[in-house]
Amino acid sequence: MLIDVHCHLTGEEYVTVGGMEEVIDRAKREGVTRMICSGFDVESSLQAKVLSETYEEIYFCAGFHPGELGHYREGDLKELRKLCRHEKCVAVGEIGLDYHFEDNPEPKLQRELFVRQLELANEEGLPVVLHSRDAAQETLEILKENASLLKKGGLMHCYSYSPEMTADFLGLGLSFSFGGPSTFKNAKKVVESVRHIPAHRLLSETDCPYLTPTPFRGVFPNEPKNVRYVVENFATIRNENEEELKNVLLENAKRLFFKLR
Ligand SMILES: [Zn+2]
Repeated sequence: MLIDVHCHLTGEEYVTVGGMEEVIDRAKREGVTRMICSGFDVESSLQAKVLSETYEEIYFCAGFHPGELGHYREGDLKELRKLCRHEKCVAVGEIGLDYHFEDNPEPKLQRELFVRQLELANEEGLPVVLHSRDAAQETLEILKENASLLKKGGLMHCYSYSPEMTADFLGLGLSFSFGGPSTFKNAKKVVESVRHIPAHRLLSETDCPYLTPTPFRGVFPNEPKNVRYVVENFATIRNENEEELKNVLLENAKRLFFKLR
């Protein structure tokens, strides 16, 4: 049994590949029986909730992605809070900082909503799923300043910073997930991180529809079924037994996302 702890299944692209029914069928044939569909604003979080109500295999996260804050409205956090109380909402996410593109939302707004959503997770007793791009130091600072809000833990999703920095995030009690990039030939830093993270803090994801892992790199859309290749590659990198590793990954997911059944 495998789990994709971070995917985006609410996009139109899956209509062209047979719809959700077939995406889930293909996933199950590869042993992927649980998928956590991540919201990135209120609308997508609501759509993820509907998917979770339609398909037993799907759970979801509710949150506002830093890159999407351009259309943030006062009152959105109230909507997210309602979603947090849904039986299949396993975390607040994805939230964090993203300074990659020049026209990304103002850093000040990003930081404010990052902290407010950390508070939301703490108040609702949920873990957080963190997105951080080109903002390593600031992400770490904000998390350290707000460490008391991380009682239910959190996940550095698609971790891409230095292997050395994993120690700082581990110190905050966080876990790490990796997807397609960990299978890419030139991903030396990511591979190094995968190799050294303690087994009980490692999780598997696809972040689909993008970042399809090797051997299907470049194929669009990526799908949860491909998490299989991510996990096979983990086992190779870490020189561990694949079946045992699968069990550990599943236990890790159930521990962090405690609403998962
Ligand atoms: Zn994502």
